[in-house]
Amino acid sequence: MRRLRAVIFDLDDTLVDQRSAAHAAVIPWAVEQGVVGDAGGLAARWDAVADHHYPRYQLRQISFQGQRRARVREFLGRDLSDAEADVAFEGYLARYEAGWATFPEVGETLARVRACGLRVGILTNGDATQQRRKLDRVGLSPSVEAMVASSELPVGKPDARAFHAAAHRLDVVQGEALMVGDSVDTDVRGALAAGMHAVLVDRSGQHAGVDVPRIRSLADLDLAACEQ
Ligand SMILES: [Mg+2]
Repeated sequence: MRRLRAVIFDLDDTLVDQRSAAHAAVIPWAVEQGVVGDAGGLAARWDAVADHHYPRYQLRQISFQGQRRARVREFLGRDLSDAEADVAFEGYLARYEAGWATFPEVGETLARVRACGLRVGILTNGDATQQRRKLDRVGLSPSVEAMVASSELPVGKPDARAFHAAAHRLDVVQGEALMVGDSVDTDVRGALAAGMHAVLVDRSGQHAGVDVPRIRSLADLDLAACEQ
């Protein structure tokens, strides 16, 4: 095994608790929009709408703006024009951005990785502009040497080319990098297939039976090889 030289993190729901931010944003926004429902039901429905349309953006079937409009129209159940959908989404977006925050153990984890002399990268299936804004907002930009977003690549995770691009940006080869992410297929199996080391961060424990390396928190990230 080659010596580890870099750790590459997924961003959403690995470093940044974006799902909690989305839930905190959608409930008051839905009330403002006159949508009726209990908090849990609204959050679950917003997740379902996002889980339907966001992958279509990741597969390049619709634009980033297009997936926002599609989510608004489906969630509100209204036949909105593009301009109307954009205005409605702004009310959600302002609240969503205000809720961006890292998981509690992130600062210490990145400090530990850097103290080991390892490079820190991010590989995210997302829009580069939004993801850079997110990194700045949560204060992670100074701790990250390179962020690669799928919007800047020919193809996103789990395609091997996305992992190779991230390794290249960090000036390491695949076997010298560890990918850390919350998606079994997109992050972990994709990285393993691309020749990287990989570990799943499974905070809820929902993937206990899955045959990939798994930790419950970034605090459990094993850097023993460099910390000896
Ligand atoms: Mg993720």
